[in-house]
Amino acid sequence: MEQHFQLCVLGSGAVGQTVAYGGRSAGLSVVVIETQAPGGTCPNRGCDAKKPFVNAAGLMYRANHLAAAGGGIAPTTLDWSAIAAFKKSFTDPVGDLTAADLRKAGVELIAGEPRFTGPGTVVVGEQTITADRFVIATGQMPRPLTVPGGELTVDSDAFLELDDLPQRVTFIGGGYVGMEFACAAAMAGRAVTVIATRDHVLAGFDPDIVATLEAALPDLGPHGVTVVPNRRVGAVSQGPEGLRVHANDDASTVVATADLVVNTTGRVASVDGLNLDAAGVAASPRGVAVDGHLRCPGNPHIWAGGDVADNGRPALIPTAVDDARVLAHNLFKAPSDADLQARPAKPHASVAFTLPAVSGVGLTEDEARAEHGDAVHVASGNFATKKFFRELAQPHVAWKMIFGPDRRLIGAHLAAEGSDEVINLLALTLGQVPEQSALYNATLTYPSVSAAVQTAFRKAAKGA
Ligand SMILES: Cc1cc2nc3c(=O)[nH]c(=O)nc-3n(C[C@H](O)[C@H](O)[C@H](O)COP(=O)(O)OP(=O)(O)OC[C@H]3O[C@@H](n4cnc5c(N)ncnc54)[C@H](O)[C@@H]3O)c2cc1C
Repeated sequence: MEQHFQLCVLGSGAVGQTVAYGGRSAGLSVVVIETQAPGGTCPNRGCDAKKPFVNAAGLMYRANHLAAAGGGIAPTTLDWSAIAAFKKSFTDPVGDLTAADLRKAGVELIAGEPRFTGPGTVVVGEQTITADRFVIATGQMPRPLTVPGGELTVDSDAFLELDDLPQRVTFIGGGYVGMEFACAAAMAGRAVTVIATRDHVLAGFDPDIVATLEAALPDLGPHGVTVVPNRRVGAVSQGPEGLRVHANDDASTVVATADLVVNTTGRVASVDGLNLDAAGVAASPRGVAVDGHLRCPGNPHIWAGGDVADNGRPALIPTAVDDARVLAHNLFKAPSDADLQARPAKPHASVAFTLPAVSGVGLTEDEARAEHGDAVHVASGNFATKKFFRELAQPHVAWKMIFGPDRRLIGAHLAAEGSDEVINLLALTLGQVPEQSALYNATLTYPSVSAAVQTAFRKAAKGA
């Protein structure tokens, strides 16, 4: 069967849905092709799906520190299987609800694996779809672990589907996904090991702020999180005592033994099977090549955005949503090329929901010094000495703020429970001269994390 649509969208995540609804609002005929449960990564197996685990672990982290400090609360425990069931009550309905909403809006939804057979044609199963325009919004997928025994590991998708966790869990990869899972599993009483390729976990976050997290890791839960740095996993094997993870450096191999090994080595663009060459679309390991307007240089009828696009920004939901807005404008509201919007180059706030949470926006100190040399002003401090954080019994809390040569805030970094929220205040302040900013001058609630950050900001600004 052959069908023609004005718009064909590959993938039904945040980007795919926004574009599909935008197309329908513009009166276009729209088809969405999706390989898995509709809805995309975030609600099914990403940000939203992990939130019940990291939220419960964060509550327990705070409660247990308060208990230890004599704050009048009993130490608490975390039941992984109960949270897994709670999480499924949110994730299980996502596919059907998304499909129903799309269909209600008049979007044709096809389940299957699309394959380009020409510049304007995809084939999915028995169906041939032609379209005036295509949007590739297929996101990313876990990077396969290609070492011997890699098949003995589970990826983040499978990890989030587990009904319970065994006692010993090893994560391969110290990025934000691995570290968030590791902290939560430790709070659930599991013995957790993280094998990291670098000397510190959470590459991309400010190293001094990451050091605050690393100081907290040994005390998480009854067994702590053990990080094995500077190691590459060469093999995974099954031994009599459990799964064996062989982690090498130049000189030696260490073996971590576990009941469950989770591959959190990163994510790669989901382009396998799309046969992009047939459509004249280029892709590299970083994703689908796009220009500044998110159009594919090799085919003006094909656009791409979100995680799958090689757009120079990190693969996160806020950056995907930025892309979706640009795509919706360029596809439906730009009558000519002169009206096309460029993707925003603005810095983005980001967070690892570790314990404590690590958050940042703008440049790290190393990046700032590489860009501006000694003309930067860097101020940092430890919130733990402040009465407010002592009352919360939070021992691992730190801040760093970085100002450029013209005194504008160019980077801000926090380690503290609650920093995932309050980093947004600093994101709104980025690029501003402190004394002229709302954060500096506002009368904020007290006692609060925001007020503590405001005090740090005022203090940091003094030397700038
Ligand atoms: C464990 C985990 C935790 C995360 N936590 C956070 C967080 O805390 N904060 C944050 O900002 N971001 C987080 N992310 C990232 C976030 O989920 C993504 O950035 C976001 O979902 C990307 O949206 P998207 O629309 O580009 O792609 P996706 O949401 O991935 O949607 C792509 C869709 O395309 C489908 N698809 C794949 N291949 C094909 C194909 N060949 N044909 C048709 N359809 C296809 C997929 O099934 C999927 O439904 C997390 C991700 C993971 C994995």
